[in-house]
Amino acid sequence: MEKTKLLLGTANRGKVAELNEMLGGLGVELVPLDAVGPFEDVAETGETFAENARLKASAYARQSGMPTLADDSGFEVEALGWRPGVLSARYGGDAAKTFSEKIELLLSEMEQSKTRSRAARFKCAVALAAADGEIVAESEGVVSGSVSDSPSGNGGFGYDPIFVPEGFSKTFAEMSSAEKGGLSHRGRAILQIIPYLRTFLGTLT
Ligand code: IMP
Repeated sequence: MEKTKLLLGTANRGKVAELNEMLGGLGVELVPLDAVGPFEDVAETGETFAENARLKASAYARQSGMPTLADDSGFEVEALGWRPGVLSARYGGDAAKTFSEKIELLLSEMEQSKTRSRAARFKCAVALAAADGEIVAESEGVVSGSVSDSPSGNGGFGYDPIFVPEGFSKTFAEMSSAEKGGLSHRGRAILQIIPYLRTFLGTLT
């Protein structure tokens, strides 16, 4: 039987690899944006992860005519008033373009903060849009933990080298993608949307 193609509303290779690993067994072919596009970029103007996930899923579905799964995620640090949040990818602006620069900036901002807490969490919202852009399912996932004193590990992406999930003594960047996927914010959000995704795929066949 031919697999249903599902567009992934991301060009982030790290996310594509993680999502492929998690959804591989569903009988869908996950296609990243750059394999189908070019598409017009979708401005992430939402104030919440859920709003941005819906914006991306709908807009890429309408542009491609394909059912589309999109996520929006970010890193929240208590000592920074739970920033950078929805601005995680843009944190530090032009002065901190690479993730090692962003991490350095974040650690120095934490040092200057009056709040001594090292608590942090990753959040992820996922939205599934039908080919006409209508949102048919949504979910959210959170993983809590703390910010390490210095970066460690080469796996994952983004802020992974400084995030130690609760109950562990190593960073996300020191875990295999399967280990991280099993407990990550994205893993949890994806796990919750799978039953809806199955039902939705069933309506297409
Ligand atoms: P998005 O691509 O708009 O969802 O932005 C997500 C941003 O949040 C990424 O660029 C990273 O900065 C951060 N982020 C989200 N998920 C993760 C993760 O699993 N590990 C590390 N950083 C992440």
